[in-house]
Amino acid sequence: MCTICHYHTCPPPCPNAETAPIGVCAYCEEVVYDHEPRLREQDGRLFHAECLEALPLTELLAVFGVDAEVEE
Ligand SMILES: [Zn+2]
Ligand SMILES: [Zn+2]
Repeated sequence: MCTICHYHTCPPPCPNAETAPIGVCAYCEEVVYDHEPRLREQDGRLFHAECLEALPLTELLAVFGVDAEVEE
């Protein structure tokens, strides 16, 4: 455990934070860091978990190539 922030994985404000970039989010095109919750698709695309969680279901499916609509 980190002696400064008391987290196992230091968040960015901590001087001990390991902010290693893992890759780029395929949705928002911003860097995904090692400490951030993330998902990786089998073909290699990387996403912030946050980005996907914020999407409405139909958009989420579209991101993964599923063309679906809510049926009334
Ligand atoms: Zn720390
Ligand atoms: Zn993102």
